[in-house]
Amino acid sequence: MKQQFAKRIHLLKPSPTMVLDTIAKKLKQEGLPIINLTAGEPDTDTAEHIKQAAINAIERGYTKYTAPQGTIELRNAVAEKFKHDNNLSYDASQVVIGTGSKQVLYTAFQVLCDEGDEVIIPVPCWRTFIDQVELAGGTPIFVRLEAPFKITADAIEKAITSQTKILLLNSPANPTGAVIDESEFEKIADLAVKHDLWIISDEIYEKLLYEGRHISIASLNDAVKQRTITINGVSKSHAMTGWRIGFAGGPQEVITAMTNLQAQIITTPPSMSQAAALTALTGDQTSIHTMREDLQKRRDMLFEALSQIPQISLQKPEGAFYFFISIEKLLGDTYPTATDWCKALLEKEQVALIPGEAFTYPGYIRLSFAASMDDLQEAVLRIKRFIG
Ligand code: PLP
Repeated sequence: MKQQFAKRIHLLKPSPTMVLDTIAKKLKQEGLPIINLTAGEPDTDTAEHIKQAAINAIERGYTKYTAPQGTIELRNAVAEKFKHDNNLSYDASQVVIGTGSKQVLYTAFQVLCDEGDEVIIPVPCWRTFIDQVELAGGTPIFVRLEAPFKITADAIEKAITSQTKILLLNSPANPTGAVIDESEFEKIADLAVKHDLWIISDEIYEKLLYEGRHISIASLNDAVKQRTITINGVSKSHAMTGWRIGFAGGPQEVITAMTNLQAQIITTPPSMSQAAALTALTGDQTSIHTMREDLQKRRDMLFEALSQIPQISLQKPEGAFYFFISIEKLLGDTYPTATDWCKALLEKEQVALIPGEAFTYPGYIRLSFAASMDDLQEAVLRIKRFIG
């Protein structure tokens, strides 16, 4: 019997956070007071009326397969959301619902990316983008951004070759919280049209924006809309990470291909989660505003507190719920890498953070402020004590 796995599976590298995760679990088991600031999800619960919508759906027997593309009610609600929030007109047939925006992204790359195609990815970035491009046979081309991590059309243009097929955008971004400047959006859209590129725009942190207004690149003009897949979901906006509902709007042929592909993987997104997402999008939106205000207070408190530590440097994130902090001055013989530093911080002070290596950006750490004010304040004290 041949024991080898398919080649593509070897493309998946072990996550640098695994080591830290193992230590964190062990320390927790030992009863130590761990402050975990690695979370990629809101720390609030899903709103009661959203939960109730799922309970009602289950009770009325709404427990079967739906259309592979997602229910028409939810696709209409997503089309309405795109219109209302993003000034983007999509018919419900140009919308696909998937099991989380991560899966929707995966199918988008599978549909658009062939062996040898180059995909431009600004870094630091969420590791999933890289793995998904490689799984699709594409070659990630990194555009390295420097603090404050603003994507510019100039930087992107330098990375374009005859092989470039897709440009990945993520604004607000994980792990930096950076937002693309309004003036750059137009230029980036023109670039995509000029060089005949697809744009995959991951806008999952749209609602967690603390400055300015959110811009969907597809809304700028028809030429860019025809080459853009706008991806979003309810995970972060409505504290619904466990429900696994994400969605995309885009040109009809792409959405149909994505639907055909996901039909062979997931069949349909879960019916009761779709019912919950429908209520999330059409019901009372107060929870979004409350969450954003809470997060903003934590961001401001932390920025103030962390800025007083001279050995680190950081910028105020404009969106999402992460600080991406340079600890380069603290690295050397004792802690050669950010991973070593995070490991020691966890063992000595029981604060869990994610090293920049996880985002293709050594020398940095990501701190999630989706945690209680008390935990954040205590974490600052511990980090200060650790740095000395
Ligand atoms: N896109 C980005 C940039 C993310 O950081 C995350 C989650 O951390 C996702 C997408 C995935 O969200 P979902 O829960 O919709 O799959």
